[in-house]
Formats: sequence, C-alpha cells, structure tokens
Amino acid sequence: MIDWQAEVEKRQDDLLADLEAILRIDSERDVAHATKDYPLGAGPAEALTQMLTIAQRDGFTTKNVENVAGRIEFGAGDEILGILAHMDVVPAGDGWQTKPFEPTIVDGHLIARGSADDKGPAMAAYYALKIIKELGLPVSKTVHYIFGTDEESEWVGIERYLEVEPTPDFGFSPDAEFPIINGEKGIADFKINFKSELSTVGEIRLMNFTSGLRDNMVPQTATATVEGHQLDQLSDQFVAFAAENGLVADVQVADHQTVFNLTGKGAHALEPRAGVNAATYLATFLTDLPLDSAGHEYVTVIKDHFHLDSRGANLGIEYTDDLMGELTASPDIFRYDVENGGHVILNVRFPQGITAEVINANIAKTIDHANINSEVYGRVETPHYVPADDPLVKTLLSVYEKQTGEKGHEQIIGGGTYGRILDRGVAFGAQFPGQPNVMHQANEYMPIADILRATAIYAEAIYELVK
Ligand code: ZN
Ligand code: ZN
Repeated sequence: MIDWQAEVEKRQDDLLADLEAILRIDSERDVAHATKDYPLGAGPAEALTQMLTIAQRDGFTTKNVENVAGRIEFGAGDEILGILAHMDVVPAGDGWQTKPFEPTIVDGHLIARGSADDKGPAMAAYYALKIIKELGLPVSKTVHYIFGTDEESEWVGIERYLEVEPTPDFGFSPDAEFPIINGEKGIADFKINFKSELSTVGEIRLMNFTSGLRDNMVPQTATATVEGHQLDQLSDQFVAFAAENGLVADVQVADHQTVFNLTGKGAHALEPRAGVNAATYLATFLTDLPLDSAGHEYVTVIKDHFHLDSRGANLGIEYTDDLMGELTASPDIFRYDVENGGHVILNVRFPQGITAEVINANIAKTIDHANINSEVYGRVETPHYVPADDPLVKTLLSVYEKQTGEKGHEQIIGGGTYGRILDRGVAFGAQFPGQPNVMHQANEYMPIADILRATAIYAEAIYELVK
C-alpha cells in the first residue's frame, strides 16, 4: 500500500518552488513579438522550456517541438497514456491586489496568473509522475506528458505537436475540475450576413452598430450611431429603457447625430444566461425608432431572433439531448454600417444528435429574408463523449472516490478542453467541487492544500492507468 498523500508531503517544498518558478514567467500569447524561433512570442516558450528543464533535472527524457509544444516521457510499452496540460496563460488584466507574476501566498492560497489555469494543476500532475518514477513502480505503458503553449487562443502548439508526434491512445487533461469532465458539447460559429442595400431614407438613419470583442463572450457593451432631426427626446427614452431593463445607458448628442452606448454584463458564451447581452438590448430599443429600412431590418432581426433567446428557440435551432443537455446560442459579435451592411456572429454549443450544417440550414430557414444569409463560420468542434463505463473514466473516478471519500459522477460541459483531442480523452481536476472557479479572473489563486490533494490523486490515477 502506497501512502500517496505522504509521498506528496515529502516533496511539498520542491513542488512549490518549481511551480513558483513557472508562475514567474508571463507566458501570455504575444504574436506581436513573434520570431522564427518563438512563433507565439517568448513567454510561452520560456515557460515550456522551464518545465522541460525541471523534468531533465529529475532524470526524465524530454522533447521540445519547435518551441510551441513539448513532452516529458516515462515508462515503456506500445500503448501511450497522454497527459495534456498547457503552459500559456490569459492576459493578467486589471484588478490585481498582488503582482500577477510574483506568486504570493495568503491564507494558504497561492495567488498568481496561471495558478489554477493551468500551471498549478500541470505541476501537480508532473509531481505525480515524478513520485511514480522515484518509487520505482513497475509500469507496462508509455506516458507522454504533453504541454501546449496556445491553449487559451488557437491551439497552435498542440496542433503542431499532433502533426509531428504520435497521438496518445487515451488520456486526460488536468485543466478543469473533479470529479471528471467526460463529455463536451460541439462548438460552432455562424455568421449571419446582412447585404448592404440602398436604404430608403427613414426619419432616422442607423449609421453604425458595433458590439462584441470575442466570439466566445456575451458582449458587455454596445454602441449605435443614428442620424436625423429632432433626436432630442430620444435620450430620455433611452435612459428610461436602460433603467427598466437593469442596464446602464450613456448618450452623446451632437448636431444631427446621436450615439447610444449601453452596458450590460459580459459572460462566457457557454452559458449566455449568466450575462446581459448589451447588443440585443440596444437593437431592441432601436426597433421602436422610425429607422431607414436597412437599419430597421438589422435591429428587427436581432430583436426577433437573438434577444433573450439563449436556447435558440427563435432561430429554430432549439435542441436537447438526454445525456448532453441543451443547445446554447450566444450572439457575440455585431457589426453594421450604412455603407456595407452588417453581420452577427453566433456562438453555438450543441449536444450530440445535431450537426453544424443542420443548425445553419435551420437558421437560414427561420430568418428567411431575401438579403440575409447564414454560413458556418470557422472551425467546427464536434461533440465529444467518453462513456461512463470506459475503463479510463471508471479508473479516474474510483481513485477520486477512494482518496476524497466523495461520490464521483460524470459531467458534460459546454467545451472545450484538451480532453477532446483524444477519442478516449477526458478532463480530470484539479479544481475541487465547491471551490469557486477563478480561472481567467484577477487575483486567480489555487489553495495549496488542493494542489497537494490533486497531486496525490494524479499519482495514484496515473499509476493505475499504466501499471
Ligand atoms: Zn486551461
Ligand atoms: Zn483558460
């Protein structure tokens, strides 16, 4: 019987020192400073190199793949267990009480950008592997512990890795939560295009409409400019509309132009109900004005088909699967101007049983205006699910249950972790149930006790998977 927790405690100081060294590196994607050697900027490659150097120090064989990905090797055998983590971080952003790249311990919390996503969990999984190695436990499979450096953006590193290196047979990503994530919905964007047309002049012309920063975030702010006469009374109407709906309004009036700014609440697109979409509210307000026909069509379609409709009912794409749950729809980017027409980009997370093509056809059929069309936009991620009775899922859950005393259960989320890369791939930890999710937020932290608990779980889990 191995006392995994005791093995972790013996190495606690070393683990924290190694983790802090990695956390000190600002490994945000920085393609503005890309070079031939550092395609994603220097930071992500530095964090990767540091991780591989630690592993070499401990006697592991490592491989650096073009400074965008890498791996640590262990064991022997034809079958490969993949562990998939990432060394990049999202930008630090504002609102920190400590310096984001100077790891600080307060009340047992290790605070730093990347402490929870994903350097803390990644180091926990590394020490798990190190413990198995140092105990000299017999293994019958190969372990490839793989690091990407662009998980937060376009997955450039991990995709390059999979092009030139063997794909593991099964595995897990320590980049989510316990007990397990064994299913992820599909993800696709749809671009709804509004062709420009010679607009018949209404009393008021919609000059432009702009909202949304990213295709995976509910837009927090929206701006529209209108032109016309006698716009004075609109300010009051707008402020009243915002107040009624719990948003914040700001209006700038100049000559014959008025600019409307509305602020709602941003949120992750995987649950649009957590946000307040500033764009669909602003469009809804504008439908009551006597706008030119093209402008009127743009805001009316938004009101009729996108406003307060996180399940896509008004787009004709509502769909639920018993296992994977509801399709969600989040309109996240809006661009319109009077010269060029406009578009809306809709981010959809869909369960098994439906495809992006079918969703697109249904959107086109539902909106059905002569000068509007819909297209699948960019890459489509298909739904991913590893059955609960797969030995991988069973093993991970049984180790989790044994060590925590908590009942394990399967979980399916809106996407998208490295777990989906492998047909038999899941995400496993390291956030424990009941802990707030602080990933991507200011003052990101991970409780040190949780890092150590996760290390012990990973050690036993890896050993059970490769013994
Ligand atoms: Zn992550
Ligand atoms: Zn992240």
